Amino acid sequence: MTSHAAQTSAPAQAWQGAADRDLILNAGPRFELLVRGEGSHLWDGEGRRYLDFLAGIAVTALGHAHPVFVEAVSRQAATLAHVSNYFATPPQLELAARLKRLAGTGDAGRVFFGNSGTEANEAAFKLARLHGLSSDLGTERPRILSLDNAFHGRTIGALALTAKASMRDPFQPLPGGVEHIPATIEALEAAMDDRVAALFVEPIQGEAGVLELPEGYLRAARELTAKHGALLIVDEIQTGAGRTGDWFAFQHEGIVPDAITLAKGIGGGFPIGALVAFGDAAALLQPGSHGSTFGGNPLATAVSNAVLEEIEQAGLVQNARERGAQLREVVEGIGSPLVAGVRGRGLLLGVALAVPVAGDVVAAAQRLGLVINAANPSSVRIAPALTIGDAEIAEFTDLFTAALAEVAATALTETNA
Ligand code: PLP
Repeated sequence: MTSHAAQTSAPAQAWQGAADRDLILNAGPRFELLVRGEGSHLWDGEGRRYLDFLAGIAVTALGHAHPVFVEAVSRQAATLAHVSNYFATPPQLELAARLKRLAGTGDAGRVFFGNSGTEANEAAFKLARLHGLSSDLGTERPRILSLDNAFHGRTIGALALTAKASMRDPFQPLPGGVEHIPATIEALEAAMDDRVAALFVEPIQGEAGVLELPEGYLRAARELTAKHGALLIVDEIQTGAGRTGDWFAFQHEGIVPDAITLAKGIGGGFPIGALVAFGDAAALLQPGSHGSTFGGNPLATAVSNAVLEEIEQAGLVQNARERGAQLREVVEGIGSPLVAGVRGRGLLLGVALAVPVAGDVVAAAQRLGLVINAANPSSVRIAPALTIGDAEIAEFTDLFTAALAEVAATALTETNA
């Protein structure tokens, strides 16, 4: 596989030296030095232009430097940026009501704001623990279920929910009681009992390679958790805010979870996370049980309101549905022998490769001027801004076709040799 360093456009740049010296190396070497963005395009320090079909990993829903985003940041920064949670602010109250409305649950919910996805899941983890304690069975709900291949974040609680051994093992012991089960209805039926406090589910497992749940899984999960008095907590951090062609992916199956966790797209590029809890689950976190200094500050919530309002006004949920279907056809239509299939929904797509060369495809794409990412060695993730139209799809088609051809020429020869 091509190394990260080999993906950069020019040899030994000064910025690389600074990055290697001054940044903690948790994310590995950076691919490029990016200096500017506009719509679905990015520019590096040398003036090279890239088509951005990753959107900061499903974050910049409106694309880069969208006037609505710019105006909301500027206006609110000039009005009131931060006051702490001793005080309410109009943007915070507006966003809480908006998220409940978009989730379709009306008044029956409450929102906790944090600053990232992992923080939203930490809050949800606490919700699960409190539910385990508050149930009729006293402390007899010690079990929390999560799915094989799950990714819920990197802080210690969210990491306990995350499945991947290489992420978990260096940080053991993690909080106890979490069991990972296969993502099948049968496995859930077998695992579920009255000692389960909560089931955590991503409707589409983005980090694992854009893996969809079996049809009907969320409906079955809703029935089984309700039957056994467990919470159903849906992680919509990657799938939410219109990305899959509905406001939230759980809505495709017509269910209402007990809680959802949000981040990424709801801020459109501004850091924000949220836990939205419905029904009895909304009363579990009582005064003093959780908190965040920055969480729900007027700047982040004002930007989120503006981003979500624009998604709504500009019909971008519908656009995600239609452009997603178009993009899937495009990828299938390329007819590359490297492409084994396309997974996902709306504008969260995973291209399954016949051989594990996703890193090479991503590197080739980047050399040609296309930003995508390798969710794992056999899957390329495509998650553009929700604003894309025919022009961006045409540009993507040319660049992705060329990247696949470049890699296929060597990868398939090597495999057949
Ligand atoms: N949950 C899901 C489904 C995610 O995709 C991610 C990030 O990729 C997270 C949680 C963690 O979010 P963050 O990186 O904002 O902490």
